[in-house]
Amino acid sequence: MFIKIDKITKKFDEIFCLKNFSMSIKKGEIISIIGPSGSGKSTILKCISGICKIDKGEISINNKRVDNLPVNERNISYVFQESPLFPHLNVKKNILFNLKKYDKEKLFFLLKKTKIENIQNKYPYQISGGENQRVALVRSLIRNPDLFLLDEPFNNLDNSNKNQLKKIIIDIIKETNTTTIFVNHETQDSLEISDKILILVNGEKKTIDTPFNIYNKPKSLKIAKMFGEVNELLIDNKKVYFRIQNLIITRKSSIKGKVMESKFMGHFYKITVKVDTQLVNLFSIKDIKKNEIIYLKVIKENQLHF
Ligand code: ADP
Ligand code: MG
Repeated sequence: MFIKIDKITKKFDEIFCLKNFSMSIKKGEIISIIGPSGSGKSTILKCISGICKIDKGEISINNKRVDNLPVNERNISYVFQESPLFPHLNVKKNILFNLKKYDKEKLFFLLKKTKIENIQNKYPYQISGGENQRVALVRSLIRNPDLFLLDEPFNNLDNSNKNQLKKIIIDIIKETNTTTIFVNHETQDSLEISDKILILVNGEKKTIDTPFNIYNKPKSLKIAKMFGEVNELLIDNKKVYFRIQNLIITRKSSIKGKVMESKFMGHFYKITVKVDTQLVNLFSIKDIKKNEIIYLKVIKENQLHF
């Protein structure tokens, strides 16, 4: 394994923040860490980068231990919510700060990809929040880090800036084969970006798996609900769980329901149906009138099992 985090523990004021936390990452992989606020996500990144000292455990990159090295000797780059730039230096000087030598071709590639070639002479106060994050991204990646850490980098961006930056990040990380840990609270972003998703609760790893498996074969109802809505329905006295796109309208079936609500969502209508006393949701491309009786079918092979 390229990155190995082995049973790290971190306490703040005698309270465990991370307890025996382990994970391994292959070269070039993107891992997302998802977890509630305060679960220790940022602390993991701080321990890996060296901003925080671990109490126990080991961290190694390419079979070399780094947890006893100072921050500047770990070759790890970090971009967070509002990555600060030096206010007295222009964009180019911020990017190249303290770099003795750098790959000119790579700089050209990064500037072009992030579309900031034209703002190189501007100062931080003259650029937008989205541009600030793209500068921080280039500054990190021109250093060819062994590991790239992203801590909620989209938090202060509007949707259009966020979607643009998200695409840029994925493209660059994949093209440069940069191993990355991405901390985020928006599960949709993690499903799109990651090779694997790790779920952290109270400083402990609950599960790690591919986005496909986390979404389609979650280990618990709680995890399933983190990544999208779940319908629960009693069929033949047995509770079944399934995602709402797996409930479809059919001509005849033993599951009969009454439409309670039809909500226009843009791409589709979200229909709420009452089956006996249970409420379930489904997607429909057509509007359906309230109180209409419809027949439903659950796509069996896509049921969730816990
Ligand atoms: P997350 O990024 O998942 O929201 P953090 O890693 O920032 O969570 O914090 C996890 C827990 O550790 C929180 O309860 C937080 O208050 C605590 N914590 C983080 N940093 C410190 C610190 N420097 N001193 C004391 N407690 C801290
Ligand atoms: Mg955090």
